[in-house]
Amino acid sequence: MAKLKEMKGIGEKSLTLLKKLGIESEEDLIEYYPYRYQLIKRSDLEKLTSDKVILDGVIETVPKIFYIHKNLNKLSFSLNTGTRILTVTLFNRAYLKQNLKIGSKITVFGKIDKNMRNVVASEVRFSTLLKETIEPIYHTTNGITIPKLAQWIDQVLEKDFYVVDYIPKEYVEKYHLMDKKESIFEIHHPTSEPQLKKALTRAKYEELFLFMMKMSELKENKMTKLGLYRTIDFQEVEKVIETLPFTLTSDQRRSVEEIYQDLTSSKRMNRLLQGDVGSGKTIVAILSMYMNYLSGYQSTLMAPTEILAIQHYETVNKFLSSFGVRTVLLTGKLKAKEKKEVLEKIANKEADIVIGTHALFTENVIYNNLGLVITDEQHRFGVNQRGNLKNKGITPDVLYMSATPIPRTYTLTLYGDMDISSIKASPSGRKETITLLKKEEDLKEVLTRMLEELKKKHQIYVIAPLIEESDKMNLENVEELEQKMNRAFGKYYKVGVLHGKMKGIEKEAVMADFQEGKIDILISTTVIEVGVNVLNATMMVIFDSYRFGLSALHQLRGRVGRSELQSYCIFISNYETERLNVLTKTTDGFKISEEDFRLRGSGDLFGIKQSGMHAFKLVDVKEDFDILKHAKIDAEAYYKSEAFQENFVLKELLKKSEDLD
Ligand code: ADP
Ligand code: MG
Repeated sequence: MAKLKEMKGIGEKSLTLLKKLGIESEEDLIEYYPYRYQLIKRSDLEKLTSDKVILDGVIETVPKIFYIHKNLNKLSFSLNTGTRILTVTLFNRAYLKQNLKIGSKITVFGKIDKNMRNVVASEVRFSTLLKETIEPIYHTTNGITIPKLAQWIDQVLEKDFYVVDYIPKEYVEKYHLMDKKESIFEIHHPTSEPQLKKALTRAKYEELFLFMMKMSELKENKMTKLGLYRTIDFQEVEKVIETLPFTLTSDQRRSVEEIYQDLTSSKRMNRLLQGDVGSGKTIVAILSMYMNYLSGYQSTLMAPTEILAIQHYETVNKFLSSFGVRTVLLTGKLKAKEKKEVLEKIANKEADIVIGTHALFTENVIYNNLGLVITDEQHRFGVNQRGNLKNKGITPDVLYMSATPIPRTYTLTLYGDMDISSIKASPSGRKETITLLKKEEDLKEVLTRMLEELKKKHQIYVIAPLIEESDKMNLENVEELEQKMNRAFGKYYKVGVLHGKMKGIEKEAVMADFQEGKIDILISTTVIEVGVNVLNATMMVIFDSYRFGLSALHQLRGRVGRSELQSYCIFISNYETERLNVLTKTTDGFKISEEDFRLRGSGDLFGIKQSGMHAFKLVDVKEDFDILKHAKIDAEAYYKSEAFQENFVLKELLKKSEDLD
């Protein structure tokens, strides 16, 4: 295809703007699809279902202009629709007056009043309506209008252009998919709703098929090439399992076995361990690191916060130190001398397990035979951070742990290149956390309930309102709550405070005190959100809870209800939101994520946005799940087929698209 700059009306400036939209060739231009369509059809005033109308007619009076104040003017005229005469008003569009001549035929988009006499118009077009048009609406950027973009697209469409159809013939036939070229015309110039739907289905299938082919390729590349050779005596693992203070759930056991299979196979492990908050992922990670240790390699476990890293460090030591495993903690907050010692231990293989925060990647760590990399609460990290491991040539096995209960729809796209182990059932004996929704005026009742828990010698988290804009205000909130709690309970109970502005060492001290029961009420900002595990804490009170997102609230609540004790979560909010209602109805993370999905559609679901891994042009993972399922099955089959081996066009395309890791 020809270059964009040879096209009519495209100069340097437009080229730059088009590039912003990701359009760099004629091919990009015709495959730049509308993000939605508008059905333009004359409204039937006798059968209106909403106040939004599209009407055409003839102008009957000279428009009058009223200047209401400096920044507001109003233009009105009468429009004869053939059956009625309506008054049409436009705000701040006085400049249109010269075009609105008596006798002109126009179309008006706007809102009509109840009496059907007045229309406030948002848009006027200087033509009458065809019977019915489906108008494509494109995302665009400042400097390029939709009509201009559409016109450029048409310039290409008018030529005798050629497009590559990447969908293998067998699937085109199987699903009776529309011809690609035809579908491109239909997408930009819809002829009817059913035809448009066929065209879009075809384009979406292609997009998903290619995505799934890429996933198959990634999986293949990651897993076959660089597996480590090892043998593991599972009897030794059983010995550790026997010393645990609990019996593994069947989901935990299955996950451990799946990881064992991965580690001992010749393929590289690339696995996601998915399980709701409190489901017991940590012990699976610990046993995995022990298996890795048994085969002679070093492991790392990366946590998203320092508090969590310390907690993991303690847990690992508790379970593994008696089996001779040497564990070190590496965080960004270590003093220079301590850091040097830790780094030396890692380099000399005097450490078998390294636990830490981002420092594991950002500090200049030289690993010694690193065989397993585990990241906890994976969704908190950018995708790229994993790349910086300095590990002398070997490629470690990788395990991600995530408490983010992602609806199945997303798992397929986000983690399509990974194997997945799921912990579905929480350890038995747990009681479901009782969740209550209270208003601020009910504070007295809340304090009474808190007192009941304190009397049972249980501990409480109090979460300060979330104010994103200002750390200072967060601090004020925390301090105010501290005073409040001290006034109510200070005489008999100890109140502690934890917030992001504190130094690492101060945070550690407070967490340690809370862990040991020296603090009864811990007031905290969301620094507590992930992973923290204090079994005796049985109540969480969240102030201004309407400010938090569903996932944050779910994670916060997950800090309680982690033992056999009955736990409570109290949301204080003067506003009742759908999110809060969802949370009072269920504690099941998967249900909550489905609800979140329903409430918000795609987008920022449970922090998925950060991963930036799947930006589809046309596909909406939720709406198009059915197509997605087929595309996945087909792509996986095709990837293994002989036909693919000879499909050089497609192979080339897959090679070109960037690696996601
Ligand atoms: P998460 O999956 O949220 O990381 P953790 O691994 O921190 O959860 O586990 C939560 C709590 O449950 C911990 O105190 C852990 O010791 C405990 N636990 C884990 N597995 C079991 C089990 N099979 N039976 C009883 N308690 C368990
Ligand atoms: Mg955890």
